[in-house]
Amino acid sequence: MKVAFVASEAFPFAKVGGLADVLGSLPQALKRQGLEPTIFLPWYWGIEGYYVGESYFDFGGQRERVGIGHAEHDGVQYVLVGLGDFSRDRPYGYDDDFRRFVRFQMAVAEMLREFDVVHAHDWQGALLPLLRNLGWFKARTVYTIHNLAYQGTWGSDDFFAWTRIPGEAYYMGGLEHRGAVNLMKSGTVNADAVTTVSPRYAWEICTPEVGEGLDGILREQRWKLHGILNGLDTEYWNPATDKYLAHHYTAADFSGKRKLRKELLKEFGLEDRPTIGVVSRFAEQKGIDLIADAVQGLMDLGVNLLVLGSGEPNLERTFNWLAAHLSGRVAYHQGYNEPLAHRIYAGSDGFLMPSRFEPCGLAQLIAMRYGTPPIVRAVGGLLDTVQHWETGFSFDGMDAAGVWWGVNEFLKHPDRPQVARNGMKTNFAWEGPAQAYGDLYKGLLGVK
Ligand code: ADP
Repeated sequence: MKVAFVASEAFPFAKVGGLADVLGSLPQALKRQGLEPTIFLPWYWGIEGYYVGESYFDFGGQRERVGIGHAEHDGVQYVLVGLGDFSRDRPYGYDDDFRRFVRFQMAVAEMLREFDVVHAHDWQGALLPLLRNLGWFKARTVYTIHNLAYQGTWGSDDFFAWTRIPGEAYYMGGLEHRGAVNLMKSGTVNADAVTTVSPRYAWEICTPEVGEGLDGILREQRWKLHGILNGLDTEYWNPATDKYLAHHYTAADFSGKRKLRKELLKEFGLEDRPTIGVVSRFAEQKGIDLIADAVQGLMDLGVNLLVLGSGEPNLERTFNWLAAHLSGRVAYHQGYNEPLAHRIYAGSDGFLMPSRFEPCGLAQLIAMRYGTPPIVRAVGGLLDTVQHWETGFSFDGMDAAGVWWGVNEFLKHPDRPQVARNGMKTNFAWEGPAQAYGDLYKGLLGVK
């Protein structure tokens, strides 16, 4: 079975968030199960690939040429789609993002004829199910929502001039949402199946609180909506072999973890107390402000906080201030730092993740894998993956009191090492999710 993945990010070629991790491991797991995946990715500036030829597509009434490259990651082939306007220093954040990714999808649509399934991701792939329904290619289509907050909207007729999609598709093809073109809506309406990255989030996005204005559409399409948890690259995230760690450990022997903890506390000048790690983007979604609000209460509980992250300047300032005023108890490293993230996952006693919403979440899986019980808000994928008092701790309140309550539960538990071991033994490998996607594809194709 030939499956084409179409997405804007894939580890290790281009990574902004969790989407890249999925596109860098799910295809590999599918391949191990006998499928033939190919990933279509924009050829961003700096990706090393072999030039293999060219393809053509129509855009804005012109026939355009596109250079094609190949790259490989863990035995799976990535097709790099070389369009001039992707040759910039980062994937997104430009005024013409909408136009660029429409062009990308139009170019890819010309290359999909030999595939059985086209699996499109987020708004940067969301046009493809409609193009299939308009007869551009024949594959069955699966559309995955990783982040409902970015829907790919455009309020002008240019869209129809660029794509030559007939104007009737605005209403008939499900493109229209609240008076503008909305690619995520179109992908949802036109795909044969829609998935998102955890069962709980699949339910939550059908509610007005989390649905970002698309909840009504998602409720209508619920019959074909599936929640499939993301897996974790358990080779890369492995405390027994992690190249960033000076000592290694397993669930049977925590002595390496104890050494790492000692060194981590020394590195950050922290007192010898239960130490709660945080590794996160500093964004509204992640509830980092709730941690800041809870600091006094957490200090009273007797824990340390060790925080790594960057993003919103206000939050960065707050944590710099807290670390300066509560030295010995609160430490903060501003920035993105892969080796330090590994040391925090390994050396902390607990891991805090008070997300306002969380489609799946990777950090809590990593923390469990590293024997560091996560303390999470019970939403989305966090609710699906963390069992309260068994593999971690969860709380409901979206405020400082919620965070305090969660950390207090962590402190109250009589046998935290057992919780840590339970987490380490939980299976988060991609094999299970890949099987679920494989079954979904087979169901759509009517094969066993
Ligand atoms: P999201 O994709 O919404 O940011 P996830 O929990 O799914 O959240 O994935 C976050 C990933 O990014 C994890 O692998 C986490 O370790 C990593 N990460 C986040 N912030 C940092 C940082 N400042 N330094 C290093 N790694 C980080």
